[in-house]
Amino acid sequence: MTLPPPATIRTEVSLPLRFADGYATAARVFSFDGLVDGREHLAIGLGDRAGAGPRVATVPLVRPHSECLTGDVLGSQRCDCGPQLREAVERIAGAGGYLLYLRQEGRGIGLYTKLDAYALQDGGLDTYEANLALGHDEDERDYTPAAQMLHALGVPGVALLSNNPDKAAQLGRLGIAVLQHVPTELHLSPANARYLATKARRGAHRLDGPGRAESAG
Ligand SMILES: [Zn+2]
Repeated sequence: MTLPPPATIRTEVSLPLRFADGYATAARVFSFDGLVDGREHLAIGLGDRAGAGPRVATVPLVRPHSECLTGDVLGSQRCDCGPQLREAVERIAGAGGYLLYLRQEGRGIGLYTKLDAYALQDGGLDTYEANLALGHDEDERDYTPAAQMLHALGVPGVALLSNNPDKAAQLGRLGIAVLQHVPTELHLSPANARYLATKARRGAHRLDGPGRAESAG
C-alpha cells in the first residue's frame, strides 16, 4: 500500500441538482488543491454529506464516475454513462456519500481520441481493440486523484458503488479500505449492448447485478 501525496479541500459550496427527468437533490461540491495530475476533479457530497456541517462518521457510499461528455451531457446511447451517473446520484443521496466526478474522458484517452475510437468501432473493432489501435492502453484510468480526494475528505473506508474490480483494487492500494462492494444496475439499450458485452468480457466487469433493461426508444 502506498499513500498518495496529500491533497487539501480548496472550496466547498452547495449545488442543488435537478436532472432532465425532474429528479432533484441537494449536493455539496468540493474542489481540491494538490491533485497529482493537475486536472479539475470534483467530489460531490450527497444525502447526509450534502450539508455544510461536520463530516458524518458513517461509511459513505462512493462512486468514482469517469467524465463522459457524450453520455453525461448529450445522452449518447453508445455507452451507459448517463444512466449510470443518474442512478449513482440517487443511490448515494439515499445512502449518504460522495460521487467522485473524474475528468478521465474516454477511459483516460481524451474526448477527441474517444471519437476516433468510435469511428474505428464503426469499422468493426470493439472498444478495447480500437483503443489499442490508436496507441493507447485498454484502460488508462488512474484512481490516485480519487484516493487523494477521499483522504482530504477524511474518508478512510468506503462502500464502493461499482462493478469494476480495477477501481476497488487501485483504491485499496492507495490506502482507501473498500469495506463493501455495491453493484450498479445494468442500463441496456440496443445501441450500447455490444459495448456492455465487451466491457464484461474484456474488463472482467461484473454484470450480475440487478438488471434493468432500458428501451432506446
Ligand atoms: Zn460514456
